Amino acid sequence: MYIDGCWEQFPDRQHFVSVNPANGQALGSLPDGTAEDAVRAIDAAAASLQSWSATSPYFRADILQKAAANVTRERETIAELMSLEQGKPLKAARNEINYAADFLRWYAEEAKRIYGRTIPSARADQRFLTVQAAVGVVAAITPWNYPVSMITRKLAPALAAGCTIVLKPAESTPLCAKAMIDAITDTPIPDGVVNMITCSQPAAVGEILVTDPRVAKITFTGSTAVGRHIAAQAGQALKRVSLELGGHAPFIVYDDADPVHAAKGAALVKFLNTGQACISPNRIFVHENIHDEFVSTLAARTSKLQAGSGIEPDVTVGPLINEAAIQKVENQVNDAVSKGAVLQTGGFRLDEPHLSDGHFFAPTVLTGITDSMLIYREETFGPVAAVMSFNDDDDIYALANDTHYGLAAYVYTQSLQRSYEAMEKLKFGIIGINDINPTSAAAPFGGTGDSGLGREGGMEGISEYLETKTVGLSI
Ligand code: NAP
Ligand code: MG
Repeated sequence: MYIDGCWEQFPDRQHFVSVNPANGQALGSLPDGTAEDAVRAIDAAAASLQSWSATSPYFRADILQKAAANVTRERETIAELMSLEQGKPLKAARNEINYAADFLRWYAEEAKRIYGRTIPSARADQRFLTVQAAVGVVAAITPWNYPVSMITRKLAPALAAGCTIVLKPAESTPLCAKAMIDAITDTPIPDGVVNMITCSQPAAVGEILVTDPRVAKITFTGSTAVGRHIAAQAGQALKRVSLELGGHAPFIVYDDADPVHAAKGAALVKFLNTGQACISPNRIFVHENIHDEFVSTLAARTSKLQAGSGIEPDVTVGPLINEAAIQKVENQVNDAVSKGAVLQTGGFRLDEPHLSDGHFFAPTVLTGITDSMLIYREETFGPVAAVMSFNDDDDIYALANDTHYGLAAYVYTQSLQRSYEAMEKLKFGIIGINDINPTSAAAPFGGTGDSGLGREGGMEGISEYLETKTVGLSI
Protein backbone atom coordinates (compact mmCIF):
# COMPACT_ATOMS: atom_id res chain seq x y z
CA MET A 1 0.00 0.00 0.00
CA TYR A 2 1.21 3.47 -0.79
CA ILE A 3 0.41 6.09 1.85
CA ASP A 4 1.87 9.58 2.24
CA GLY A 5 4.70 9.02 -0.20
CA CYS A 6 5.86 5.60 1.11
CA TRP A 7 5.39 2.01 0.12
CA GLU A 8 4.46 0.52 3.45
CA GLN A 9 5.66 -2.96 4.37
CA PHE A 10 3.44 -5.05 6.62
CA PRO A 11 5.35 -8.27 7.31
CA ASP A 12 3.05 -9.27 10.19
CA ARG A 13 -0.23 -8.37 8.55
CA GLN A 14 -2.66 -10.57 6.67
CA HIS A 15 -1.99 -10.67 2.92
CA PHE A 16 -4.07 -11.72 -0.07
CA VAL A 17 -2.82 -13.40 -3.21
CA SER A 18 -3.01 -12.24 -6.80
CA VAL A 19 -3.64 -15.20 -9.09
CA ASN A 20 -3.04 -15.80 -12.80
CA PRO A 21 -6.50 -16.58 -14.28
CA ALA A 22 -4.89 -18.65 -17.07
CA ASN A 23 -3.40 -21.27 -14.75
CA GLY A 24 -4.31 -20.55 -11.14
CA GLN A 25 -0.71 -19.80 -10.12
CA ALA A 26 0.02 -17.19 -7.47
CA LEU A 27 1.77 -14.08 -8.80
CA GLY A 28 2.35 -12.23 -5.56
CA SER A 29 0.75 -11.23 -2.31
CA LEU A 30 -0.38 -7.87 -1.02
CA PRO A 31 -1.28 -6.44 2.35
CA ASP A 32 -4.99 -6.75 3.02
CA GLY A 33 -5.92 -3.17 3.83
CA THR A 34 -8.38 -2.27 6.56
CA ALA A 35 -10.65 0.62 7.43
CA GLU A 36 -7.81 2.08 9.58
CA ASP A 37 -5.49 2.08 6.57
CA ALA A 38 -8.15 3.91 4.58
CA VAL A 39 -8.36 6.55 7.30
CA ARG A 40 -4.57 7.00 7.23
CA ALA A 41 -4.64 7.35 3.45
CA ILE A 42 -7.37 10.00 3.71
CA ASP A 43 -5.31 11.76 6.42
CA ALA A 44 -2.43 12.01 3.95
CA ALA A 45 -4.61 13.11 1.05
CA ALA A 46 -6.36 15.73 3.20
CA ALA A 47 -3.08 17.07 4.60
CA SER A 48 -1.59 17.59 1.14
CA LEU A 49 -4.72 19.01 -0.49
CA GLN A 50 -4.20 22.69 0.21
CA SER A 51 -0.62 22.87 -1.01
CA TRP A 52 -1.25 20.66 -4.05
CA SER A 53 -4.31 22.57 -5.20
CA ALA A 54 -2.32 25.80 -4.85
CA THR A 55 0.45 24.63 -7.21
CA SER A 56 0.54 26.08 -10.68
CA PRO A 57 -1.18 24.02 -13.37
CA TYR A 58 2.14 24.07 -15.23
CA PHE A 59 3.77 22.29 -12.28
CA ARG A 60 1.00 19.67 -12.17
CA ALA A 61 1.18 19.27 -15.95
CA ASP A 62 4.90 18.65 -15.74
CA ILE A 63 4.39 15.88 -13.18
CA LEU A 64 1.67 14.26 -15.29
CA GLN A 65 3.95 14.37 -18.35
CA LYS A 66 6.74 12.73 -16.37
CA ALA A 67 4.30 10.09 -15.15
CA ALA A 68 3.25 9.41 -18.77
CA ALA A 69 6.90 9.06 -19.78
CA ASN A 70 7.51 6.59 -16.93
CA VAL A 71 4.46 4.51 -17.83
CA THR A 72 5.61 4.44 -21.47
CA ARG A 73 9.15 3.50 -20.45
CA GLU A 74 7.77 0.61 -18.35
CA ARG A 75 5.35 -0.53 -21.04
CA GLU A 76 6.83 -3.98 -21.66
CA THR A 77 7.14 -4.82 -17.97
CA ILE A 78 3.63 -3.67 -17.10
CA ALA A 79 2.17 -5.31 -20.24
CA GLU A 80 3.65 -8.69 -19.27
CA LEU A 81 2.38 -8.29 -15.74
CA MET A 82 -1.09 -7.39 -17.06
CA SER A 83 -1.18 -10.43 -19.36
CA LEU A 84 -0.32 -12.63 -16.40
CA GLU A 85 -2.56 -11.01 -13.83
CA GLN A 86 -5.60 -10.02 -15.91
CA GLY A 87 -5.25 -12.43 -18.84
CA LYS A 88 -5.44 -10.27 -21.97
CA PRO A 89 -3.03 -10.90 -24.88
CA LEU A 90 0.21 -8.92 -24.76
CA LYS A 91 -0.72 -6.81 -27.77
CA ALA A 92 -3.96 -5.72 -26.07
CA ALA A 93 -2.07 -5.06 -22.85
CA ARG A 94 0.36 -2.78 -24.70
CA ASN A 95 -2.59 -0.94 -26.25
CA GLU A 96 -4.13 -0.46 -22.84
CA ILE A 97 -0.91 0.99 -21.47
CA ASN A 98 -0.75 3.46 -24.37
CA TYR A 99 -4.36 4.41 -23.62
CA ALA A 100 -3.48 4.81 -19.92
CA ALA A 101 -0.53 7.08 -20.76
CA ASP A 102 -2.80 9.10 -23.09
CA PHE A 103 -4.94 10.15 -20.11
CA LEU A 104 -1.86 11.39 -18.25
CA ARG A 105 -0.68 13.39 -21.29
CA TRP A 106 -4.08 14.71 -22.25
CA TYR A 107 -4.91 15.98 -18.76
CA ALA A 108 -1.40 17.43 -18.38
CA GLU A 109 -2.44 19.76 -21.18
CA GLU A 110 -5.99 20.21 -19.89
CA ALA A 111 -4.68 21.40 -16.49
CA LYS A 112 -3.60 24.59 -18.28
CA ARG A 113 -7.09 25.18 -19.67
CA ILE A 114 -9.15 25.32 -16.47
CA TYR A 115 -10.80 28.55 -17.55
CA GLY A 116 -13.31 30.80 -15.80
CA ARG A 117 -15.69 33.31 -17.42
CA THR A 118 -16.75 36.91 -17.04
CA ILE A 119 -20.49 37.48 -17.17
CA PRO A 120 -22.25 40.78 -17.90
CA SER A 121 -24.55 41.97 -15.13
CA ALA A 122 -27.90 43.75 -15.31
CA ARG A 123 -26.51 46.26 -12.79
CA ALA A 124 -24.14 48.88 -14.14
CA ASP A 125 -22.04 48.79 -10.98
CA GLN A 126 -21.70 45.01 -10.90
CA ARG A 127 -19.36 42.48 -12.54
CA PHE A 128 -19.54 38.68 -12.40
CA LEU A 129 -16.83 36.16 -12.88
CA THR A 130 -16.41 32.46 -12.31
CA VAL A 131 -13.39 30.61 -11.04
CA GLN A 132 -12.91 26.86 -10.87
CA ALA A 133 -11.51 25.12 -7.83
CA ALA A 134 -10.49 21.54 -7.10
CA VAL A 135 -13.36 19.65 -5.44
CA GLY A 136 -11.01 18.26 -2.78
CA VAL A 137 -9.94 14.76 -1.76
CA VAL A 138 -11.07 12.14 -4.28
CA ALA A 139 -11.66 8.45 -3.60
CA ALA A 140 -11.30 6.27 -6.70
CA ILE A 141 -12.44 2.65 -6.91
CA THR A 142 -11.43 0.74 -10.04
CA PRO A 143 -12.17 -2.65 -11.69
CA TRP A 144 -9.92 -5.45 -12.93
CA ASN A 145 -10.90 -5.62 -16.61
CA TYR A 146 -8.87 -2.55 -17.65
CA PRO A 147 -6.59 -2.49 -14.63
CA VAL A 148 -4.28 0.37 -15.63
CA SER A 149 -6.29 2.69 -17.89
CA MET A 150 -9.18 2.85 -15.41
CA ILE A 151 -6.68 4.21 -12.89
CA THR A 152 -5.31 7.02 -15.06
CA ARG A 153 -8.76 7.88 -16.45
CA LYS A 154 -9.57 9.00 -12.89
CA LEU A 155 -6.20 9.97 -11.44
CA ALA A 156 -5.03 12.18 -14.33
CA PRO A 157 -7.99 14.62 -14.38
CA ALA A 158 -8.16 14.59 -10.56
CA LEU A 159 -4.50 15.59 -10.20
CA ALA A 160 -4.73 18.07 -13.08
CA ALA A 161 -7.65 19.77 -11.33
CA GLY A 162 -5.65 20.04 -8.09
CA CYS A 163 -7.32 17.22 -6.17
CA THR A 164 -5.50 14.61 -4.10
CA ILE A 165 -6.52 10.98 -4.33
CA VAL A 166 -6.95 7.68 -2.52
CA LEU A 167 -7.16 4.74 -4.92
CA LYS A 168 -8.69 1.34 -4.13
CA PRO A 169 -7.91 -0.94 -7.09
CA ALA A 170 -9.63 -4.27 -7.78
CA GLU A 171 -8.70 -7.29 -5.71
CA SER A 172 -7.91 -9.33 -8.86
CA THR A 173 -5.36 -6.90 -10.34
CA PRO A 174 -3.47 -5.21 -7.49
CA LEU A 175 -0.02 -5.85 -8.98
CA CYS A 176 -0.91 -3.87 -12.10
CA ALA A 177 -2.12 -1.05 -9.86
CA LYS A 178 1.09 -1.19 -7.84
CA ALA A 179 3.19 -0.96 -11.01
CA MET A 180 1.19 2.06 -12.15
CA ILE A 181 1.44 3.88 -8.82
CA ASP A 182 5.18 3.16 -8.84
CA ALA A 183 5.54 4.77 -12.28
CA ILE A 184 3.28 7.72 -11.44
CA THR A 185 5.01 8.52 -8.16
CA ASP A 186 8.53 8.18 -9.59
CA THR A 187 8.16 11.92 -10.27
CA PRO A 188 8.53 15.03 -8.09
CA ILE A 189 4.93 14.58 -6.89
CA PRO A 190 4.58 15.72 -3.26
CA ASP A 191 3.91 13.09 -0.58
CA GLY A 192 0.25 12.44 0.18
CA VAL A 193 -1.10 13.54 -3.21
CA VAL A 194 -1.49 9.94 -4.41
CA ASN A 195 -2.30 7.06 -2.05
CA MET A 196 -3.34 3.47 -2.67
CA ILE A 197 -5.01 0.90 -0.43
CA THR A 198 -5.08 -2.74 -1.53
CA CYS A 199 -7.64 -5.08 0.00
CA SER A 200 -9.61 -8.24 -0.63
CA GLN A 201 -12.81 -7.30 1.21
CA PRO A 202 -13.75 -3.92 -0.22
CA ALA A 203 -16.85 -3.15 1.84
CA ALA A 204 -15.09 -1.86 4.98
CA VAL A 205 -12.50 0.21 3.11
CA GLY A 206 -15.18 1.37 0.66
CA GLU A 207 -17.43 2.54 3.45
CA ILE A 208 -14.69 4.72 4.92
CA LEU A 209 -13.84 6.17 1.52
CA VAL A 210 -17.47 6.99 0.81
CA THR A 211 -18.48 8.28 4.23
CA ASP A 212 -15.39 10.10 5.61
CA PRO A 213 -16.38 13.78 5.55
CA ARG A 214 -12.94 14.79 4.26
CA VAL A 215 -13.56 12.96 0.96
CA ALA A 216 -15.41 15.30 -1.39
CA LYS A 217 -15.86 13.10 -4.41
CA ILE A 218 -16.18 9.40 -5.24
CA THR A 219 -15.34 8.11 -8.67
CA PHE A 220 -16.21 4.48 -9.28
CA THR A 221 -15.96 2.07 -12.20
CA GLY A 222 -17.46 -1.37 -11.78
CA SER A 223 -20.75 -3.18 -11.60
CA THR A 224 -24.13 -1.47 -11.46
CA ALA A 225 -25.02 -3.20 -8.18
CA VAL A 226 -21.96 -1.88 -6.35
CA GLY A 227 -22.26 1.52 -8.04
CA ARG A 228 -25.83 1.86 -6.82
CA HIS A 229 -24.75 0.99 -3.27
CA ILE A 230 -21.92 3.52 -3.34
CA ALA A 231 -24.14 6.25 -4.76
CA ALA A 232 -26.70 5.62 -2.02
CA GLN A 233 -24.01 5.90 0.68
CA ALA A 234 -22.53 9.01 -0.94
CA GLY A 235 -25.99 10.51 -1.28
CA GLN A 236 -26.41 10.59 2.48
CA ALA A 237 -23.40 12.90 2.72
CA LEU A 238 -24.25 14.74 -0.54
CA LYS A 239 -20.89 13.95 -2.08
CA ARG A 240 -20.07 14.34 -5.74
CA VAL A 241 -20.21 10.97 -7.50
CA SER A 242 -19.14 9.70 -10.94
CA LEU A 243 -20.13 6.16 -11.88
CA GLU A 244 -19.02 4.16 -14.91
CA LEU A 245 -21.05 0.97 -14.64
CA GLY A 246 -22.17 -1.96 -16.72
CA GLY A 247 -23.45 -2.01 -20.28
CA HIS A 248 -25.52 -3.99 -22.76
CA ALA A 249 -24.50 -2.58 -26.11
CA PRO A 250 -26.69 -3.12 -29.17
CA PHE A 251 -24.87 -3.63 -32.50
CA ILE A 252 -27.11 -2.86 -35.47
CA VAL A 253 -26.20 -3.94 -39.00
CA TYR A 254 -28.41 -2.48 -41.74
CA ASP A 255 -28.74 -4.19 -45.10
CA ASP A 256 -26.91 -1.34 -46.85
CA ALA A 257 -23.76 -2.26 -44.90
CA ASP A 258 -21.12 -4.70 -46.09
CA PRO A 259 -21.94 -7.80 -44.00
CA VAL A 260 -18.38 -9.13 -44.14
CA HIS A 261 -16.85 -5.84 -42.99
CA ALA A 262 -19.47 -5.52 -40.23
CA ALA A 263 -18.90 -9.11 -39.08
CA LYS A 264 -15.15 -8.51 -38.87
CA GLY A 265 -15.84 -5.47 -36.72
CA ALA A 266 -18.26 -7.41 -34.54
CA ALA A 267 -15.73 -10.21 -34.01
CA LEU A 268 -13.01 -7.74 -33.07
CA VAL A 269 -15.04 -5.74 -30.56
CA LYS A 270 -17.00 -8.68 -29.13
CA PHE A 271 -13.98 -10.80 -28.23
CA LEU A 272 -11.77 -7.94 -27.14
CA ASN A 273 -10.67 -8.68 -23.59
CA THR A 274 -12.60 -11.99 -23.85
CA GLY A 275 -15.81 -9.98 -23.90
CA GLN A 276 -15.03 -8.47 -20.50
CA ALA A 277 -15.59 -4.88 -21.54
CA CYS A 278 -18.37 -2.56 -20.49
CA ILE A 279 -18.81 -1.48 -24.14
CA SER A 280 -18.91 -5.05 -25.48
CA PRO A 281 -21.82 -5.72 -27.89
CA ASN A 282 -24.40 -7.80 -26.05
CA ARG A 283 -27.16 -7.93 -28.68
CA ILE A 284 -26.26 -8.01 -32.36
CA PHE A 285 -29.20 -7.07 -34.62
CA VAL A 286 -28.63 -7.96 -38.28
CA HIS A 287 -31.04 -7.18 -41.13
CA GLU A 288 -32.54 -10.42 -42.47
CA ASN A 289 -31.28 -9.74 -46.02
CA ILE A 290 -27.63 -10.05 -44.95
CA HIS A 291 -28.03 -12.13 -41.78
CA ASP A 292 -26.61 -15.40 -43.12
CA GLU A 293 -23.56 -13.85 -44.73
CA PHE A 294 -22.86 -11.85 -41.57
CA VAL A 295 -23.20 -14.94 -39.36
CA SER A 296 -21.00 -17.17 -41.51
CA THR A 297 -18.20 -14.57 -41.46
CA LEU A 298 -18.58 -13.96 -37.72
CA ALA A 299 -18.61 -17.70 -36.93
CA ALA A 300 -15.58 -18.38 -39.16
CA ARG A 301 -13.59 -15.60 -37.50
CA THR A 302 -14.71 -16.65 -34.05
CA SER A 303 -13.69 -20.27 -34.49
CA LYS A 304 -10.20 -19.16 -35.54
CA LEU A 305 -9.51 -17.36 -32.25
CA GLN A 306 -6.72 -18.98 -30.24
CA ALA A 307 -7.49 -19.28 -26.54
CA GLY A 308 -4.68 -19.41 -24.02
CA SER A 309 -2.55 -17.45 -21.63
CA GLY A 310 -2.23 -13.88 -22.87
CA ILE A 311 1.53 -14.07 -22.51
CA GLU A 312 1.84 -16.79 -25.25
CA PRO A 313 2.68 -15.31 -28.66
CA ASP A 314 -0.20 -16.62 -30.82
CA VAL A 315 -2.99 -16.29 -28.31
CA THR A 316 -5.82 -13.98 -29.38
CA VAL A 317 -8.30 -14.58 -26.57
CA GLY A 318 -7.39 -14.94 -22.91
CA PRO A 319 -9.13 -16.48 -19.91
CA LEU A 320 -12.10 -15.10 -18.04
CA ILE A 321 -11.22 -13.56 -14.70
CA ASN A 322 -12.62 -16.29 -12.43
CA GLU A 323 -14.92 -19.27 -12.02
CA ALA A 324 -18.00 -17.14 -11.36
CA ALA A 325 -17.52 -15.46 -14.74
CA ILE A 326 -17.43 -18.87 -16.48
CA GLN A 327 -20.61 -19.92 -14.72
CA LYS A 328 -22.43 -16.76 -15.72
CA VAL A 329 -21.51 -17.30 -19.37
CA GLU A 330 -22.40 -21.00 -19.26
CA ASN A 331 -25.73 -20.18 -17.67
CA GLN A 332 -26.61 -17.61 -20.35
CA VAL A 333 -25.62 -19.97 -23.17
CA ASN A 334 -27.57 -22.94 -21.74
CA ASP A 335 -30.60 -20.74 -21.10
CA ALA A 336 -30.54 -19.39 -24.68
CA VAL A 337 -30.11 -22.83 -26.25
CA SER A 338 -32.92 -24.28 -24.11
CA LYS A 339 -35.18 -21.51 -25.44
CA GLY A 340 -34.35 -22.14 -29.09
CA ALA A 341 -31.13 -20.23 -29.86
CA VAL A 342 -28.75 -21.97 -32.27
CA LEU A 343 -25.06 -22.47 -31.52
CA GLN A 344 -22.99 -21.57 -34.59
CA THR A 345 -19.66 -22.17 -32.85
CA GLY A 346 -18.36 -22.64 -29.33
CA GLY A 347 -20.73 -22.92 -26.38
CA PHE A 348 -18.56 -24.90 -24.01
CA ARG A 349 -15.84 -24.55 -21.43
CA LEU A 350 -12.30 -25.20 -22.71
CA ASP A 351 -10.64 -27.84 -20.60
CA GLU A 352 -7.84 -29.27 -22.71
CA PRO A 353 -4.82 -30.09 -20.53
CA HIS A 354 -2.99 -26.78 -21.13
CA LEU A 355 -6.15 -24.79 -20.29
CA SER A 356 -7.76 -26.86 -17.57
CA ASP A 357 -6.25 -24.95 -14.64
CA GLY A 358 -7.56 -21.64 -16.02
CA HIS A 359 -10.97 -20.09 -16.66
CA PHE A 360 -11.41 -20.57 -20.40
CA PHE A 361 -14.62 -20.55 -22.42
CA ALA A 362 -14.76 -21.17 -26.16
CA PRO A 363 -15.54 -18.02 -28.17
CA THR A 364 -19.19 -18.53 -29.05
CA VAL A 365 -21.73 -17.35 -31.60
CA LEU A 366 -25.45 -17.82 -30.93
CA THR A 367 -28.21 -16.96 -33.39
CA GLY A 368 -31.97 -16.78 -32.99
CA ILE A 369 -31.79 -14.74 -29.77
CA THR A 370 -35.14 -13.55 -28.43
CA ASP A 371 -36.21 -11.22 -25.65
CA SER A 372 -37.18 -14.15 -23.43
CA MET A 373 -33.53 -15.15 -22.99
CA LEU A 374 -31.27 -14.08 -20.12
CA ILE A 375 -28.58 -12.90 -22.52
CA TYR A 376 -31.02 -10.37 -24.02
CA ARG A 377 -31.14 -8.48 -20.70
CA GLU A 378 -28.19 -9.51 -18.53
CA GLU A 379 -24.69 -8.20 -19.21
CA THR A 380 -22.64 -11.21 -20.42
CA PHE A 381 -19.08 -10.02 -19.73
CA GLY A 382 -17.78 -13.01 -21.64
CA PRO A 383 -17.00 -14.32 -25.14
CA VAL A 384 -20.52 -14.86 -26.50
CA ALA A 385 -21.86 -13.07 -29.58
CA ALA A 386 -25.68 -13.08 -29.44
CA VAL A 387 -27.22 -12.47 -32.88
CA MET A 388 -30.83 -11.85 -33.90
CA SER A 389 -32.27 -10.75 -37.22
CA PHE A 390 -34.59 -7.83 -37.86
CA ASN A 391 -36.61 -6.68 -40.85
CA ASP A 392 -38.04 -3.45 -42.21
CA ASP A 393 -41.20 -3.81 -40.10
CA ASP A 394 -39.26 -3.76 -36.84
CA ASP A 395 -38.67 -0.54 -34.94
CA ILE A 396 -34.97 -1.18 -34.61
CA TYR A 397 -34.32 1.76 -32.28
CA ALA A 398 -37.04 0.61 -29.90
CA LEU A 399 -35.41 -2.84 -29.86
CA ALA A 400 -31.92 -1.41 -29.36
CA ASN A 401 -33.11 0.90 -26.59
CA ASP A 402 -34.91 -1.96 -24.81
CA THR A 403 -32.42 -2.10 -21.91
CA HIS A 404 -31.90 -0.30 -18.62
CA TYR A 405 -28.27 0.22 -19.60
CA GLY A 406 -27.11 3.06 -21.82
CA LEU A 407 -23.38 2.93 -22.36
CA ALA A 408 -22.36 2.05 -25.93
CA ALA A 409 -24.16 1.27 -29.19
CA TYR A 410 -22.84 0.41 -32.65
CA VAL A 411 -24.38 0.87 -36.08
CA TYR A 412 -23.20 -0.27 -39.49
CA THR A 413 -24.75 1.57 -42.43
CA GLN A 414 -23.69 3.43 -45.55
CA SER A 415 -26.60 5.82 -45.22
CA LEU A 416 -26.03 9.33 -43.92
CA GLN A 417 -29.68 9.57 -42.96
CA ARG A 418 -29.52 6.38 -40.89
CA SER A 419 -26.30 7.55 -39.27
CA TYR A 420 -28.02 10.71 -38.08
CA GLU A 421 -31.10 8.79 -37.00
CA ALA A 422 -28.88 6.48 -34.96
CA MET A 423 -27.13 9.42 -33.31
CA GLU A 424 -30.44 11.01 -32.39
CA LYS A 425 -32.56 7.98 -31.48
CA LEU A 426 -30.16 5.71 -29.57
CA LYS A 427 -30.22 6.57 -25.86
CA PHE A 428 -26.60 5.54 -25.31
CA GLY A 429 -23.69 7.71 -24.19
CA ILE A 430 -21.26 6.40 -26.82
CA ILE A 431 -22.25 5.58 -30.41
CA GLY A 432 -19.92 3.97 -32.94
CA ILE A 433 -21.04 4.39 -36.55
CA ASN A 434 -19.07 1.98 -38.73
CA ASP A 435 -16.56 2.26 -35.88
CA ILE A 436 -15.77 -0.30 -33.24
CA ASN A 437 -13.47 1.85 -31.11
CA PRO A 438 -15.33 5.08 -30.32
CA THR A 439 -13.08 5.86 -27.33
CA SER A 440 -10.13 8.18 -26.72
CA ALA A 441 -8.61 10.10 -23.81
CA ALA A 442 -9.79 13.23 -25.63
CA ALA A 443 -13.44 12.14 -25.93
CA PRO A 444 -16.07 11.86 -23.19
CA PHE A 445 -16.92 8.32 -22.08
CA GLY A 446 -19.94 7.37 -20.02
CA GLY A 447 -23.50 6.25 -20.05
CA THR A 448 -27.13 6.82 -19.19
CA GLY A 449 -29.51 4.84 -16.97
CA ASP A 450 -27.97 1.86 -15.22
CA SER A 451 -24.64 2.56 -16.96
CA GLY A 452 -23.92 5.39 -14.57
CA LEU A 453 -23.48 9.11 -14.03
CA GLY A 454 -20.99 11.59 -15.39
CA ARG A 455 -18.31 11.37 -18.06
CA GLU A 456 -14.63 10.51 -18.05
CA GLY A 457 -12.15 11.67 -20.68
CA GLY A 458 -12.23 14.85 -22.70
CA MET A 459 -12.97 18.25 -21.24
CA GLU A 460 -16.05 16.80 -19.55
CA GLY A 461 -13.74 14.49 -17.59
CA ILE A 462 -11.94 17.26 -15.73
CA SER A 463 -15.12 19.15 -14.87
CA GLU A 464 -16.06 16.16 -12.67
CA TYR A 465 -13.20 17.23 -10.36
CA LEU A 466 -13.92 20.96 -10.37
CA GLU A 467 -16.30 23.15 -8.43
CA THR A 468 -17.45 26.40 -10.07
CA LYS A 469 -17.43 29.52 -7.87
CA THR A 470 -19.34 32.59 -8.96
CA VAL A 471 -17.98 35.93 -7.81
CA GLY A 472 -20.08 39.10 -7.90
CA LEU A 473 -18.19 42.38 -7.57
CA SER A 474 -19.75 45.75 -6.84
CA ILE A 475 -17.47 48.38 -8.28
P1 NAP B 1 -17.31 -4.71 -9.05
O1 NAP B 1 -17.46 -6.01 -8.42
O2 NAP B 1 -18.37 -3.70 -8.90
O3 NAP B 1 -15.92 -4.14 -8.56
C1 NAP B 1 -15.42 -2.89 -8.94
C2 NAP B 1 -14.59 -2.33 -7.80
O4 NAP B 1 -15.43 -2.06 -6.68
C3 NAP B 1 -13.51 -3.29 -7.29
O5 NAP B 1 -12.39 -2.54 -6.89
C4 NAP B 1 -14.20 -3.92 -6.10
O6 NAP B 1 -13.31 -4.48 -5.15
C5 NAP B 1 -14.93 -2.71 -5.54
N1 NAP B 1 -16.04 -3.03 -4.65
C6 NAP B 1 -16.84 -4.13 -4.64
N2 NAP B 1 -17.74 -4.04 -3.64
C7 NAP B 1 -17.52 -2.85 -3.01
C8 NAP B 1 -18.13 -2.17 -1.91
N3 NAP B 1 -19.16 -2.69 -1.23
N4 NAP B 1 -17.63 -0.96 -1.55
C9 NAP B 1 -16.60 -0.43 -2.22
N5 NAP B 1 -15.98 -1.01 -3.26
C10 NAP B 1 -16.44 -2.20 -3.66
O7 NAP B 1 -17.13 -4.84 -10.62
P2 NAP B 1 -16.14 -5.79 -11.39
O8 NAP B 1 -16.77 -7.14 -11.45
O9 NAP B 1 -14.77 -5.68 -10.88
O10 NAP B 1 -16.13 -5.12 -12.85
C11 NAP B 1 -17.01 -5.49 -13.83
C12 NAP B 1 -18.08 -4.45 -14.02
O11 NAP B 1 -17.50 -3.18 -14.26
C13 NAP B 1 -18.92 -4.73 -15.23
O12 NAP B 1 -20.29 -4.55 -14.95
C14 NAP B 1 -18.46 -3.70 -16.24
O13 NAP B 1 -19.39 -3.41 -17.23
C15 NAP B 1 -18.08 -2.56 -15.38
N6 NAP B 1 -17.13 -1.69 -16.05
C16 NAP B 1 -17.56 -0.47 -16.46
C17 NAP B 1 -16.71 0.37 -17.12
C18 NAP B 1 -17.20 1.71 -17.58
O14 NAP B 1 -16.40 2.56 -17.86
N7 NAP B 1 -18.49 1.94 -17.67
C19 NAP B 1 -15.39 0.01 -17.35
C20 NAP B 1 -14.96 -1.23 -16.90
C21 NAP B 1 -15.85 -2.07 -16.23
P3 NAP B 1 -12.94 -6.05 -5.27
O15 NAP B 1 -12.15 -6.18 -6.50
O16 NAP B 1 -12.17 -6.39 -4.05
O17 NAP B 1 -14.23 -6.83 -5.33
MG1 MG C 1 -13.11 -8.76 -3.43
